[in-house]
Amino acid sequence: MLCNTDMEIRNMEYTPEQHSLKCPKCQRGMNEVDHEGVTIDRCSNCHGLWFDADEAHQLKSLPESQALDTGDPKDGWKWDTRVEIDCPRCSKRMELTSDAKQKHIWYEVCHDHGMFMDAGEFADFKEENLLDWFRAVIKGDRSTVAP
Ligand SMILES: [Zn+2]
Ligand SMILES: [Zn+2]
Repeated sequence: MLCNTDMEIRNMEYTPEQHSLKCPKCQRGMNEVDHEGVTIDRCSNCHGLWFDADEAHQLKSLPESQALDTGDPKDGWKWDTRVEIDCPRCSKRMELTSDAKQKHIWYEVCHDHGMFMDAGEFADFKEENLLDWFRAVIKGDRSTVAP
C-alpha cells in the first residue's frame, strides 16, 4: 500500500495550471476553492486545507465557511499521524501549533505564509468561534465585538 502511494507521487506531474499548490501532507494536488471572495486550497486526496496568511481567520468570521471543509474528519485523523510537514510555499518545516482558544485543535503553521489544517479541523475551529462569540455576548465583553 505504502509502495503504491510512493509510486503515484513520483509519477504525478506537477501542473501549476491545474494545481496551485501541492498538499504538504500527502503531496497530491490541491484545488482552489472560493468562499465569499476568499480563496483557499483544498487537497484533492486528504481534503486538508491550506490557508494563506490570515485567511483562516477571515473565513472564520464569514457565514457558512465551514462548507469548505468537505473532508471526513476520520480522514483528517488518519493523516494527522504524519506530523512533520513542509510549507507548500517555501518548503521550510512547519510548526505544529495548538490553537490558543481551542487546545484540542492542532494545525501546522508557516509564520511567513500560512497554515494547514487536516480535514474536519476548520469546521471545528469555526464552530468554537461562534460559541466564543456567544459567550462573550452573554458576558457583555465588548472588546470581542467588531466595531
Ligand atoms: Zn493531502
Ligand atoms: Zn512558508
